[in-house]
Amino acid sequence: MSLSRVYDAVIVGGGPGGMAAALALAARGLSVCLADALGELAPLPASGFDLRVVALNRSSQQFLTHLGVWPHLDKTRIAAFEAMRVWDAQGFGEIVFDAGTLATSCLGHIVETANLMHALEQVRAAHDNLTVMRGVRVTSIHCQSDGVLARLSDGGRISGQVLIGADGGRSVVREYCRIEAWTRSYEQVAVVANLRMSDGHANTAWQRFMPSGPLAVLPLPGDYASIVWTTTPQSAGELLALGSDEFAQAVGEAFAWRRGEVVWSGSRGSFPLFRVRARHYVATRVALMGDAAHTVHPLAGQGLNLALMDAAALADVLGEVFASGGDIGTRTALRRYERWRKTHNLATQYTMDGLRWLFGNSSTPLRILRNLGLSAASRAGPFKTALARLACGLSGDLPPAARPPLDS
Ligand SMILES: Cc1cc2nc3c(=O)[nH]c(=O)nc-3n(C[C@H](O)[C@H](O)[C@H](O)COP(=O)(O)OP(=O)(O)OC[C@H]3O[C@@H](n4cnc5c(N)ncnc54)[C@H](O)[C@@H]3O)c2cc1C
Repeated sequence: MSLSRVYDAVIVGGGPGGMAAALALAARGLSVCLADALGELAPLPASGFDLRVVALNRSSQQFLTHLGVWPHLDKTRIAAFEAMRVWDAQGFGEIVFDAGTLATSCLGHIVETANLMHALEQVRAAHDNLTVMRGVRVTSIHCQSDGVLARLSDGGRISGQVLIGADGGRSVVREYCRIEAWTRSYEQVAVVANLRMSDGHANTAWQRFMPSGPLAVLPLPGDYASIVWTTTPQSAGELLALGSDEFAQAVGEAFAWRRGEVVWSGSRGSFPLFRVRARHYVATRVALMGDAAHTVHPLAGQGLNLALMDAAALADVLGEVFASGGDIGTRTALRRYERWRKTHNLATQYTMDGLRWLFGNSSTPLRILRNLGLSAASRAGPFKTALARLACGLSGDLPPAARPPLDS
């Protein structure tokens, strides 16, 4: 295919963040073209659940509802969690948040990424001003004062007033546009798997902090659960090499048998973890969003939630300029987006890194302090409510399309 059409916005990267941005901008009337390196979406597994799942907070749910995406999720494959329980493997500290703390029906939902992608895809069909190209890689980008041109791996070219880099942690947009970024490996690997425990999951998102990293157990429909076990690369290699029974035993032990025996476990996957912090989110006619701008440690399941809020903020800022007939690619417009999101994203990234450091540290004074801190924070009060709001994505300057009604 050879294209050289001019769009209002070109989006590089059709993961969940890029797709949400595309829908939000198209809904505002902009002509949008999105290119993604991966081919057509794979179908959802006919039995069991996909290995990639995400915890979506209430603000993300609200934004996806606003886009018309939430109703298209296959609800038989998602699970609401009504509580979060976090504790320290090296002490007595434990904190529990429940939906009652925030007077809501649940704190969030666990959704397979593939389920979300299919729902996004269904809404795409409703926008004739949105073109999505899958299986094409952006191979170079040329920024000029009046527009941006992207060359594609199939020989095609697309240009726009503005180009959005939603191409993940190893963003080529960031590179082509010479946006400086600090990238650092966490020297940790997340092992993911689906399993079942004899006492079920109690509709709770569980997290046990160990010195080598946290183990999260997230509820899926029925008594299935998804785990994200962050650990050292060596230990991850050993876990991946275990037979099913040994792996089940290892998970049960690491989870301190809180929900009984692990009675079944399916296939496993792994992700090396790294952090990316772009110095700027914008350059001439270019904006970065999602993991391309800020890749965060997954210990509190915030990465995609931040990406969705970036998408909502970008659509707000660019939609407003577009509606007034202005140029959506000016620095002034793009800087407004950067100012809106960067401080919050940075604060989240520092918080995740701080928690990782704090719970990964075995020094006795720190252990005592953090356990006392967890116990103090677990008592009801304004501080606990503020923590719960932070964990559920209800704090900060949320884009209007993502502000959930508090009592839902
Ligand atoms: C183990 C683990 C657990 C996680 N759990 C959670 C969670 O519970 N909640 C949460 O909110 N987040 C979670 N995250 C983080 C979340 O997965 C990411 O933050 C999210 O996927 C970022 O979305 P994105 O659209 O910005 O980027 P990506 O999902 O990385 O998508 C980038 C897209 O860009 C495309 N692309 C790349 N290069 C090119 C190119 N040159 N041309 C065209 N296309 C290109 C890729 O094909 C890809 O589709 C987790 C992450 C990990 C590793």
